[in-house]
Amino acid sequence: AQSSSSSSLKPSKADHVMNKQEMQHFPWSEKVEQQLKDSFNLSKFRPLQLRAINLTLLGKDLFLVMPTGRGKSLCYQLPAVCSTGFTLVVTPLVSLMEDQIMYLKSIDVSAAMLNASINKESVKTVMAGMTDVKSPFKLLYVTPEKIAKSKLFMSRLEKAYNANLLSRIAVDEVHCCSQWGHDFRPDYKLLGILKRQFPKVPLLGITATATSSVLKDCEKILCVSQPITLTSSFNRTNLYYEVRKKNSDNEASISDIASLINSKYKDQSGIVYVFSQKDAESVSTELQKRDILAYPYHANMDPQDKSRVHHKWTSNKIRVVVATVAFGMGIDKPDVRFVIHHTISKSIENYYQESGRAGRDDHPADCIVYFGFSDIFRISTMVVMENTGQQKLLQMVDYCQNFDRCRRSLMAVHFDEMWNEEGCNQMCDTCRHAQDCITVDITQHARQVVQILELAASNNEKMTPLKLTDAWMGKGPAKHRKMIQTTTLSRLKAEAVIVQLLLRGYLREDFSFTPYTTYIYIKLGRKAPLLKSQAHSLTMKMRTTESEPAEVSKIKKYCHNAMTDQYIKCNTDNWEYSIPLYNVSHRCACV
Ligand code: ADP
Ligand code: MG
Ligand code: ZN
Repeated sequence: AQSSSSSSLKPSKADHVMNKQEMQHFPWSEKVEQQLKDSFNLSKFRPLQLRAINLTLLGKDLFLVMPTGRGKSLCYQLPAVCSTGFTLVVTPLVSLMEDQIMYLKSIDVSAAMLNASINKESVKTVMAGMTDVKSPFKLLYVTPEKIAKSKLFMSRLEKAYNANLLSRIAVDEVHCCSQWGHDFRPDYKLLGILKRQFPKVPLLGITATATSSVLKDCEKILCVSQPITLTSSFNRTNLYYEVRKKNSDNEASISDIASLINSKYKDQSGIVYVFSQKDAESVSTELQKRDILAYPYHANMDPQDKSRVHHKWTSNKIRVVVATVAFGMGIDKPDVRFVIHHTISKSIENYYQESGRAGRDDHPADCIVYFGFSDIFRISTMVVMENTGQQKLLQMVDYCQNFDRCRRSLMAVHFDEMWNEEGCNQMCDTCRHAQDCITVDITQHARQVVQILELAASNNEKMTPLKLTDAWMGKGPAKHRKMIQTTTLSRLKAEAVIVQLLLRGYLREDFSFTPYTTYIYIKLGRKAPLLKSQAHSLTMKMRTTESEPAEVSKIKKYCHNAMTDQYIKCNTDNWEYSIPLYNVSHRCACV
């Protein structure tokens, strides 16, 4: 289905399957090969590149979906030099444009650009060049505003079109068209005019966002009917994915990151993603105190400061950029060895993109996310107004709370792909440590939490996540402690149970808005009534390494000769463990 005339995204494993657009010889084939080597100094095509190039040279409308850093630009740059006239390239950021122009200049490919920062004189020259039959430039980069808002430019384009000089239209980062994507740009909404006004010109939409709903939306907005969609696998096999528990103490959480960087990634480059501008400043300062050359990067910095940090990092003068998500598009440093998330991303798609800035050179790199309880709610307040914000955040939380399924397989569903353990090849923490996972019964714990919330509701008291955890742990006001069953679980475990109940619908978040801030409270979810039934039970997965030494070792000590077939229950900590891996064979005496 890959290159049939459909916009279906489904199977995408056929990266290496030779296809007729790759085998076939076209009138331009020699020229394409020669330009690849002579102009672009590349020895061979990466998967899908040649197929995309041939299809667009055949005049087809095409959507090309490839992970970042795989070489999408070549798929319009190379056809541009092999065609008469020029290729119009729509790009969302001036910095992206400048990078490309600089690169093209260095390889002697003529290119021009139009954006708000270009002076009048150059604009004139470029506008004249558009209708010059000698085509002084092969690529013309513009921001979407130009197309949406400049009548002069559009009429010039019309002239070029009539003179058969507009050879191709490339819309880079095409997902910016869709509100469902993660980078919506209002001006992209107006790009439909291109295909309506220049129907004969092939359009090439390019993106690293593979969600089929987003692509469908882009198709509509750009007025292309049934483009061919080429999708390469999103499986970045050289990236190792891992989730770590974030220390609830802020200082300690930064120390964890610092010692990781100082030990495992000595002298290597990386990114630490944080939640806010304030965090970017404070975390980078803290890392500096711990001997790491780290600089902050966020949207509120001067453009010069931003590009200075970017540049210093690219040239290895600083090692770590501590950044908000503003540090994203246009980053093309090949040797990023780690991307650490100090705070979880707001969705798995975002996480994939952000972490995907690691290992562009195809050498191994690590993507580590620190998962903390309170961060869930910080992000929750941020995404509460987004359509599916809450749902996507919970998927990210589920990714972090997962201890037994391959992390790749959890990501793959977001790209309509299936990657199995083979596709992971032990390159995620759960595949590597899957056998260290146990199932614990949390029914009683869930009932305790529900009881606290019922009591609170009857007193008209609202429970924030923190207050709920505190109350359950017996840290609340004394009057509560008498009326509720407090838990003996550690805070981390208590939090893990509460998160699990949220994910499974036994609890839910409830928001309250003031003009200044948004408050989050925990309320009973739709499944909470199920717990009234004595027969209802609830389990969750836990890593054994997390239980040891406190619980499991205790149980092992207590119960060494008394266990059931695969199931032991021990009253030492109110946990029920089902531990197939311990080869248990007798019932525990202490049950
Ligand atoms: P994308 O737009 O997909 O994120 P780019 O087009 O910016 O990626 O390319 C990323 C890097 O890959 C660039 O440095 C580019 O030179 C390199 N590249 C592209 N095609 C090839 C190829 N066939 N062989 C080797 N390197 C390539
Ligand atoms: Mg690109
Ligand atoms: Zn895996």
